[in-house]
Amino acid sequence: MHHFAYRDGRLFAEGIPLEKIAQEVGTPFYCYSHATLERHFQAFEASLGSVPHLVCFSVKSNSNLAVLSVFLNQGAGLDVVSGGELYRAMKAGADPKKIVFAGVGKTVREMEEALRAEILLFNVESEQELLALDRVAGLGGMKAPVALRINPDINPQTHPYISTGLKQNKFGIPFDRSLDVYRQAKALKYIDPIGVHCHIGSQILEVQPFVDTLGRIKALVKKLREESIAVQYLDLGGGLGITYEDEVAPPPSEYAEALLGELGDLDCTLIFEPGRVLVGNAGIMVTRVLYIKRGPEKSFIVVDAGMNDCIRPSLYGAYQAVWPVAQREGEKISGDVVGPICESGDFLAKDRLLPPLEPGDLVAVMSAGAYGFTMASNYNSRPRAAEVLVKGTEQWVVRDRETYEDIVQGESVPEALSGADSGDGR
Ligand SMILES: *Cc1c(COP(=O)(O)O)cnc(C)c1O
Repeated sequence: MHHFAYRDGRLFAEGIPLEKIAQEVGTPFYCYSHATLERHFQAFEASLGSVPHLVCFSVKSNSNLAVLSVFLNQGAGLDVVSGGELYRAMKAGADPKKIVFAGVGKTVREMEEALRAEILLFNVESEQELLALDRVAGLGGMKAPVALRINPDINPQTHPYISTGLKQNKFGIPFDRSLDVYRQAKALKYIDPIGVHCHIGSQILEVQPFVDTLGRIKALVKKLREESIAVQYLDLGGGLGITYEDEVAPPPSEYAEALLGELGDLDCTLIFEPGRVLVGNAGIMVTRVLYIKRGPEKSFIVVDAGMNDCIRPSLYGAYQAVWPVAQREGEKISGDVVGPICESGDFLAKDRLLPPLEPGDLVAVMSAGAYGFTMASNYNSRPRAAEVLVKGTEQWVVRDRETYEDIVQGESVPEALSGADSGDGR
């Protein structure tokens, strides 16, 4: 599944002991496995066989330029949700003809940037956005290639924060409005409606919600074609789940087989936007134990990474396994792994039976490759962690640990407030 494994009781990333990286880079740090990234992409790609398709990695799940490059080298496209992500995609050398752009709040500036780059598809999420895009494209004398993001009202059976395809969610155009909005799109001079898009949520562990969604979309595509709206692209989004604890996630092969079965002979190029399934288990976060507070009920393992470094446990109550970097004999500790942040919600693991640990030990927070570093912040003025990519016995720091200077970068105190030697002496 991934290339983080023990050798003689020491945890390795591929061919490198994590202790060695910690010594050289300090803690906390994120560590990604090149072989795992490649393997996950290849498994996804292979499951689609000879069906015309494009796999666009979801940049928001892990946007490090080096990680993007690994996928681009494999022929991937990219799914972006902001101008900043488009900038990263271009900087990493993506072919704009393999970039799709989703998001409920695209600004004029972002539309201009994406039009200028000549991306493959705008995944448009509302009627007003469609009109705005028509206007912006017209001013630039361009035609915008568009897929409407359809909200199919399907329950993906996942955490409410990461459900996106229910009618109470802010995403997409309601299914029963879709035909009308396509007609409107067709009538607009600077809009070229060539696709249908949907994305129903994340960490989805059943294939059925995906199949049900495709069923609804397929019916729509047929109707659109009857009205000579030539749909070439079917973008089925991302959302396939992974194993964090003991969940059984359908492998990409099962997911693809179910979807291709439902697709039947519908002639379309399929687009997928996987994020988590490609990177989630290809990355870990390594942190050092600072103190152990033993209490009567439970103990607190205080480590040098917090919710600012990895917010998933605090934000969604998400489970991420915690492994010792050096295995040792002894009595297990029951308790929470907590960070230094001044919030009671600052924990990385709760109510666990943990391996024997002492101050100075390293632990790995597993399954941290997706929505890990990308959701990190500077809360409590903590510099964001370093990111390291390992390939075999090679390692590269692919993002430096931030410095205190980085943290205050761009801030200034207006002269009128800077007391001491300013002013007219009054
Ligand atoms: C977040 C997102 C994805 C990726 O979701 P995963 O669950 O990480 O696969 C794909 N498409 C869109 C539009 C998204 O917002």
